[in-house]
Amino acid sequence: MRRPVLHGPLPGPKAQALTAKDQLYVSPSYTRIYPLVVERGEGVWVEDVDGNQFLDFTSGIAVCATGHCHPRVVRAVQDQAQHLLHMSGTDFYYTPQIRLAEKLSSLLPQEDHYKVYFGNSGAEAVEAAFKLARWHTRRELNIAFFGAFHGRTMGALSLTASKTIQKRHYHPFVPGITHIPYPYCYRCPYNLTYPSCDLECVRWVEDTLFRTTMPPDEVAAIFVEPIQGEGGYIVPPPEFHRRLHAIARSHGILYVADEVQTGIGRTGKMFAMEHFGVVPDIIALAKGIASGLPLGAMMAPSRIMTWEAGSHASTFGGNPLSCQAALETLALVESELMHNAAVMGQRLLEGLRRLQQDWECMGDVRGLGLMVGVELVKDRHTKERASEWRNRVIQEAFQRGLLLLGCGENTVRFCPALTVTADEVDCCLDLFAQAVAALFH
Ligand code: PLP
Repeated sequence: MRRPVLHGPLPGPKAQALTAKDQLYVSPSYTRIYPLVVERGEGVWVEDVDGNQFLDFTSGIAVCATGHCHPRVVRAVQDQAQHLLHMSGTDFYYTPQIRLAEKLSSLLPQEDHYKVYFGNSGAEAVEAAFKLARWHTRRELNIAFFGAFHGRTMGALSLTASKTIQKRHYHPFVPGITHIPYPYCYRCPYNLTYPSCDLECVRWVEDTLFRTTMPPDEVAAIFVEPIQGEGGYIVPPPEFHRRLHAIARSHGILYVADEVQTGIGRTGKMFAMEHFGVVPDIIALAKGIASGLPLGAMMAPSRIMTWEAGSHASTFGGNPLSCQAALETLALVESELMHNAAVMGQRLLEGLRRLQQDWECMGDVRGLGLMVGVELVKDRHTKERASEWRNRVIQEAFQRGLLLLGCGENTVRFCPALTVTADEVDCCLDLFAQAVAALFH
């Protein structure tokens, strides 16, 4: 079994020099949590500038779906680079963008005939969804969720309600957005996963919100992540999306699924909403769609994507290189990786649940496919959150050669490439167990 290789204390000398220079020249708004300076990557392994080799269970924040530098993706990009780097799909036509739009559309119900708008990032995909919802419905109000992360451009940030640091000093935001609780009671002392109060928020939309402050016929859209990502890898109860979608539909409100993190096979299905039996009106995609090349996509049926020429566009959106990378990514995800994500995700979840039996500090362990989160708690029954322990576990893992990230206040997230093998999952579990044990030594 391949293991991480560390040549000395981290960071090594080259990483130290580069992070010092980064501090001088790169925006201080970034949140690097450990000093990893990456030189190259292959599959779920990355090597830093000092030759240390790490097991990467972050996949560049859930982006490198096919692993780092998948040979088929690299070849597709190289071939495309020899023919055309850029022309701008907003003003001209080129084959990769048209082929990708056709492919993405084929993944959704054919009777609805989805069309695709291309941008460069998740925020741009959400921003486009926001604008299309207004354009199509001519309504001004919107609903989003506490804990949601939809991106950092002003429209997407207005929908985001993840951490105040992301919003401080940026007010005022786009008006007309009401945030409501996502169905998960962190503090419910009785049930670790699905407390009975879970669907209160859905009832509350109809019984309170729509009767008191928000005329439903003025609401354009509900923006929702199928599984909350940055908010803590929170899987809602099975009925949640179906019930809320039904309410939206009855009022002509668009159901916008932000699948930026959950989409493209990560949860074991192409779109996470498939787990919940809901076909959204608008879908936002990015991250894993092009295995690391910048691409965002917003999809809606042609009866909804009714906006006129000139109403929205982006110079770089749907760049030929990104489109070719996406076509290759989709072929790999469909043929084998989506299935692998389901199988390996289950292995990871079961392994973490076994560890949970030994460690009282491991609270809720949850996830779908390769989107798995573990809460660190002071006490499993009061669920008192242990953010500091979570942060320390991530540092301890790094020092052992395992790359992890956090999400929410006290959750460790595991989002490796969809190519991950059983041996690599087992290696991660072993290193994670050591990192948790280190909290108490
Ligand atoms: N939406 C979701 C669900 C995300 O997780 C993210 C990023 O983490 C975004 C939107 C924003 O994507 P980007 O950082 O590519 O703008």
